[in-house]
Amino acid sequence: MLPPISSQSPESLKNWLVQHNEPTYRADQILQWVHQKAAVDWSAMSNIPDSLRNQLAEAFQFSTVEAAQEQGSLDTTLKYLWKLNDGQFVESVLIPANPALYGESSDRHTLCVSTQVGCAYGCRFCASGLGGFKRNLTPAEIVDQVLAVERIRRDAASARERLITNLVIMGMGEPMANYENLMEALETLNAEWGAGIGARKITISTSGLVPRILDLAHHPKQYRLAISLHGATDAVREKIMPINQRYPLKELAAAASEYQSVKNGMITLEYILIEGINDHPEQISPLAQLATELRAKVNLIPYNHVDGLEWNRPSIGTQDAFLNGLKALGTPVTLRREKGHDIDAACGQLRLRTEKELAEEAL
Ligand code: SAH
Ligand code: SF4
Repeated sequence: MLPPISSQSPESLKNWLVQHNEPTYRADQILQWVHQKAAVDWSAMSNIPDSLRNQLAEAFQFSTVEAAQEQGSLDTTLKYLWKLNDGQFVESVLIPANPALYGESSDRHTLCVSTQVGCAYGCRFCASGLGGFKRNLTPAEIVDQVLAVERIRRDAASARERLITNLVIMGMGEPMANYENLMEALETLNAEWGAGIGARKITISTSGLVPRILDLAHHPKQYRLAISLHGATDAVREKIMPINQRYPLKELAAAASEYQSVKNGMITLEYILIEGINDHPEQISPLAQLATELRAKVNLIPYNHVDGLEWNRPSIGTQDAFLNGLKALGTPVTLRREKGHDIDAACGQLRLRTEKELAEEAL
């Protein structure tokens, strides 16, 4: 396989140009086409001579992800299923602005990207963990999810400005378990010469890998942190998230608190409401307490049913009671009820379904 163009830094591309007796200013032009102008292929690079385009095509892979399926609509959520070089699938979800959630203004779009094929953490409610862990995504495979959506949408909307202004690292996989590759990808997505997405507009979600949360706290960039809490007491959390045995709530809270004090940035506590599992009013007070301690906001998400799993979302009444219970204690809280999540459900599920279909076709 050729090295991906999206993993070239300006320096490495300049070195390559020098070796090929080409002027180094071409690096900026090429990277602009790749990261900013959403070129759909080498031939779109109109200010690059043919001979150089041909050499580039022989030296670099244009994209490491190929669209296998698109589902949904632009005013709710759009899901993309990507096929990787080795035939594995991951997905991204394009979400229209929701200013209350991650602080973006209303003409913005957030892309949710994957960081691994499968997941090793085995949260009991999650589709991504069902088939176990397959592999980490490379930095280029993470960057290319963003570039590919820009290319597809640019095609559809012709010559519009950049679409994606915010990123949430909440697709398939545990981002913190692929920390090095993720940081390399984010460096490119954040760079002026890259996608130019502000660090504060990038939110990394984790099930609670304490050492990596501490790394992030001391990372020079101001990436935001979301923690998949889903239980406000160890008793509840360890029933659904095996990672809680390794890093119980006390340690998780200490790491999050360190992040908060170093970054002075808003932490989001994600809390999926699962019927009869974590929706009991007894969870409200410890959750509110944790949010206060971390100066965090709580994002309640009604659970999306996963085929083959026994869990369900609670009634609207129970959801509202939980929401109002938190509000009454002064906790900043939102309850997310997007349509897209009802129709095609959370990350991980599209891939699962496609793999099932492929397996059935193969029979
Ligand atoms: N591994 C990371 C990021 C990917 S999961 C993490 O766990 O944070 C992204 C979010 O989707 C997590 O908060 C996860 O708990 C949630 N999630 C997983 N399955 C879900 C489902 N069926 N319904 C609603 N949310 C789900
Ligand atoms: Fe992995 Fe996150 Fe799913 Fe848990 S919720 S299995 S950590 S992707």
